[in-house]
Amino acid sequence: MDTLGIYVQIPFCASKCSFCNFSSKVAPHSELESYLASLEHEIDLLFSGCQTASANARHPSGDLLELPVDSLYFGGGTPTLAGAEGLDRLFATLRQRFRFAGAPELTLEMTPGSADAALMAACRELGVNRLSMGAQSFEDRELASVGRLHSGSEIEAQVGLARGAGFQNISLDLIAGLPHQTRASWLTSLTRAIELEPEHLSIYLFEIDEKSRLGNEVLRHGDRYHAAAVPDDDAMAAAYEQAQELLGAAGLAQYEISNFARPGFESRHNRKYWRLDPYLGLGAGAHSFDGNARWSNEISTIDYAARLATGELPIVEWRVLAEAEQIEEFFFLGLRECTGVDLSGAAKRWGRDAINPWQSRIDSLLQMGMLEESGGRLRLAPESFLVSNEVFQEFLLPAQDGSQALASVTGS
Ligand code: SF4
Repeated sequence: MDTLGIYVQIPFCASKCSFCNFSSKVAPHSELESYLASLEHEIDLLFSGCQTASANARHPSGDLLELPVDSLYFGGGTPTLAGAEGLDRLFATLRQRFRFAGAPELTLEMTPGSADAALMAACRELGVNRLSMGAQSFEDRELASVGRLHSGSEIEAQVGLARGAGFQNISLDLIAGLPHQTRASWLTSLTRAIELEPEHLSIYLFEIDEKSRLGNEVLRHGDRYHAAAVPDDDAMAAAYEQAQELLGAAGLAQYEISNFARPGFESRHNRKYWRLDPYLGLGAGAHSFDGNARWSNEISTIDYAARLATGELPIVEWRVLAEAEQIEEFFFLGLRECTGVDLSGAAKRWGRDAINPWQSRIDSLLQMGMLEESGGRLRLAPESFLVSNEVFQEFLLPAQDGSQALASVTGS
């Protein structure tokens, strides 16, 4: 039976990190309070089948809303800014409206230093059983250079508080490629993270794009946010490979391009994204997928609240995926996981003829050593992890001129 994942977006932070390309913002607590009220309003409207939205068919089906919820993820932003009272209210509304499965995974994202012992204990009381902590680095110079408000030792203190409150599933995020990062400092961050014995660890490479102040500065060669001290691509690649080696040796097995876990602690929620399972996003900018259609909410918290105030769901885009698009997503999302995708399952789901247009591309990528196939599963070859986006691009269109498109994978 299908289950549902719910993502709740709380896009508020105590300060804005220079590398962040999310739509989070710093705002007075009163704004966060009214946002929480809007979230509750959105949940109520979902279940009331609000008229304006249903008139243009942009309303999640009752079937989706009735699925048993086996994962709930509070992300942002910094959801702990909602405090025990705010989280308590949200949990109560969610539990009242949705049907929760027997042992759901309940994840809360957290910035080190943003939750004291009392809040940790309150979260446990609410049923939160997984924490995802944005450590990013254990080196104070690196943390300060990107505007983080915590130090390396505060990460250790926060994990200690979480363990004290009874959390047995803690994930840490680290970013390779922060300003001033060196091979030695990255090794220190990895070592200190491993010493904390997290059940899960995510390794991200700093994304250089115009959406973050630091990324923008790297592209334009500015000097306000330490862009000149950002390591080059080779250093980032070496950092990623070093993480793979050390984390594997520490018993944190890689199960996805960016994710490592002890057996049984893989993120149930994130797996839904890679496996095309249904999930419902709540809040400004949140995305949803019901197995056929994808939709997203107004990204601005102001527009999000304004739409709700008129009695409408804040949905701005709604797209039913054509069969070819579903197959594209099946490949480029499914191949993110180390176990890859089940080819016979795909043929069963869409029919052999529907998969055929991708076959010549798959064959070429296999020949080039970018993909591997065994036991009926297709997966990324280990050498492809660092160029995964180039490989995924090959699945975006049905094969027509495979040889020309494949040239981009090799950089030739
Ligand atoms: S705390 Fe997280 S969401 Fe907030 S600005 Fe920093 S990286 Fe972005």
